[in-house]
Amino acid sequence: MKSHRQILEMSGGVPTVTSFKPERIKLDFPIFTRTVHGKPLIYLDSAATTQKPQVVLDTIEKYYSYQNANVHRGLHTLAEEATAAYEATRTKVAEFIGGVKPEEVIFTRNATEAINIVAQSWGEANVRHGDRIVITQMEHHANLVPWLMLSRKTGAKLKYIKITGDGLLDLSDIDEIIDSRTKIVALTQMSNVLGTINPVEEIIEIAHKKGAMVLIDGAQSVPHLPVDIKALHADFLAFSAHKMLGPTGIGILYGKQEFLEKMEPVTYGGEMISDVRFESVRWNTLPWKFEAGTPHIAGAAAFGAALQYLQNLGMDNIRRHELELTAYALERLAALDFIKVFGPTDPEKRGGAIAFADNDIHPHDLATFLDTLGIAVRAGHHCAQPLTKLLGVSSTTRASIYIYNTTDDIDHLADGLNEARKYFRYV
Ligand code: PMP
Repeated sequence: MKSHRQILEMSGGVPTVTSFKPERIKLDFPIFTRTVHGKPLIYLDSAATTQKPQVVLDTIEKYYSYQNANVHRGLHTLAEEATAAYEATRTKVAEFIGGVKPEEVIFTRNATEAINIVAQSWGEANVRHGDRIVITQMEHHANLVPWLMLSRKTGAKLKYIKITGDGLLDLSDIDEIIDSRTKIVALTQMSNVLGTINPVEEIIEIAHKKGAMVLIDGAQSVPHLPVDIKALHADFLAFSAHKMLGPTGIGILYGKQEFLEKMEPVTYGGEMISDVRFESVRWNTLPWKFEAGTPHIAGAAAFGAALQYLQNLGMDNIRRHELELTAYALERLAALDFIKVFGPTDPEKRGGAIAFADNDIHPHDLATFLDTLGIAVRAGHHCAQPLTKLLGVSSTTRASIYIYNTTDDIDHLADGLNEARKYFRYV
């Protein structure tokens, strides 16, 4: 395992914590001007949702104030501008994930809806009794329940890639788990509980050799790592704008055109048709076939601003910053003998979602206490109940970082954990 100092020294030409300047980035986020319980806000819950920079907020306001119109339907200036803003973000997303075709990028409500579209549309058409669906033990419910339901409906067997004691995927029997009966492998690229970064490249290669499709849950990876879905050759990718500075209510399903073309829509109505008769209907072309009804237009426009903000920082730089800060956080937490951290100890193998438990204080009490200090963390099963059980606990406390977090924030967390011991009289 590399220490925080070693990682700092390794960073070569890539900006480090010192040149990345999260303190400067914080100034772009109005929320950091507020206090919580009289203390400056220390936001360590970005794995749940991230804060929004001024430019994203301004885009929403500008859209509703001066551009508001429905997309694709009008021949007036406002409708054209709204459509242009909406479609411009689609193109930006396509570039952001490695230069795919814009028609392969579908706007959804969130990552959850994106995964459900694949499970329902592709799944119900292609998965049969006796087939296999493979996921991992570390999946968020969003990438577990749709496959559980698909296995119930079809009689296909749901198989799990296990995790090791240190929170990595156990690939020792991967050739038995992903076999010729496997129709799809759906896995997260980064765990929202353990922080683990999974070797998706290797798994995609194995799955494709066995003739299986691969869906990547990128809800935690796309906001934090450079993700080139074209280079990965994944068939589907799902993620949410709100976890990468954008608004809630908008997400992305990427799919290879050849598969999306063959898939049936799962929601019917306006926009997704090319021709409707009283007795028949023809679907629209990609990507609109999957976008029934009025979409989140302001959300798309603002997501475009969020992507631009991230691109200006550079995804490599973001990863470098988070790697350093994660290493720092792991070191600070490891020094607290009453805290157990879950997930990989090597910061290179993980992102900055760090779940931990105090030996004595219940996670909910701990989170509530930290909140009195202005520190926002999350407690619970983090929508990964089977994984939490596997860890031998009913819940954990999770601190998670993003571009605006500093070593100071981590120091406050560590101090807060010490103070909680005093408050609950364990010292
Ligand atoms: N997958 C993972 C790994 C996540 O962390 C989350 C959000 N916590 C989701 C899927 C679902 O994202 P959303 O709620 O935005 O659909």
